[in-house]
Amino acid sequence: MVNDKRKVVLVGTGMVGMSYAYALLNQNACDELVLIDLNKKRAEGEAMDLNHGLAFSGANMKISSGEYVDCKDADIVAVCAGVAQQPGETRLALLKRNAKVFRSIVDPVTASGFDGIFLVATNPVDIMTRITYMLSGFNPKKVLGTGTALDTARLRYLLGEYLRVDPRNVHAYVMGEHGDSEFVPWSQAQVATKSILELCAENPEIDREQLKCIEQDVQEAAYKIIEAKNATYYGIGMAMARITRAILGDENSVLTVSAMLKGEYGQTDVFAGVPCIINKNGVQRVLKLSLSQEEAGRLGESCQVLRDCFQELSREEQDDC
Ligand code: NAD
Repeated sequence: MVNDKRKVVLVGTGMVGMSYAYALLNQNACDELVLIDLNKKRAEGEAMDLNHGLAFSGANMKISSGEYVDCKDADIVAVCAGVAQQPGETRLALLKRNAKVFRSIVDPVTASGFDGIFLVATNPVDIMTRITYMLSGFNPKKVLGTGTALDTARLRYLLGEYLRVDPRNVHAYVMGEHGDSEFVPWSQAQVATKSILELCAENPEIDREQLKCIEQDVQEAAYKIIEAKNATYYGIGMAMARITRAILGDENSVLTVSAMLKGEYGQTDVFAGVPCIINKNGVQRVLKLSLSQEEAGRLGESCQVLRDCFQELSREEQDDC
């Protein structure tokens, strides 16, 4: 910890940012929370609103709106700022605009003397995490994205419902891109210590095809929520609060964050969602699961999607120079 107070600075007080802030408050997850947004008035209003809830919470948090200099002694800077897709705008054009937004954020954060951990949620999260790493020049252990943490929570919830087991006793992960190429390595999925594939083989009531449907439901969850209510924010806010608690509590918890791969699973030159040990150092290490050959291939394909996207962005930016 940078100081004896657990301090978080949140950049981007939109729906995701404020769901995160609200979860932090309800879980008493930090001692000090500073809110920053391009729209200063909004950040001020959000700080007031949260402060008025303090009397009803078990937390004794100091909450304020602030400036980038406040990052100096923060343990975590969480970035949920971003611009929304314009009608007709391509994914690459949106990415270029968000890369610009990140430059206007990461530079002043690092200029403040910040030496903590960056936690990124802005989409496409794996690419934005890599951009944060490049702009900050930080040790990659200290730059992580929410990756497939939320997708993994969705998977465990759906498997828990199907198998009628508490999701906390379901151990299964979504890996790769937080997006269309993500996948579930079923060979590594377990209920307690029992393999789910073995459960399938032994129990005719558990249908292998249904597992595929659950994987598809996880991949499509965000689309369905956005269709119904235009955005997703509570789940990701809670996922961010979970990652924050793992960092501030030095928990050594396993969470599927977007981390830099340096040869793990045969992958380099990419940030992708993989199970990692998370503690006060950020990504303490990437866990190397015993993926089947087919699963390792799927992870490779997903990482290639991310590398191609990043290279496309880099080429576009060079052309603009
Ligand atoms: P939002 O539009 O409600 O909020 C974005 C906020 O960013 C706004 O308050 C805006 O003023 C602020 N902002 C824009 N440019 C800024 C800048 N240069 N400096 C500071 N603040 C700036 O959007 P949202 O619904 O909160 O979503 C935020 C991001 O989170 C999006 O990229 C979204 O796709 C992403 N998201 C990620 C996940 C995930 O699993 N990682 C899930 C849901 C949403």
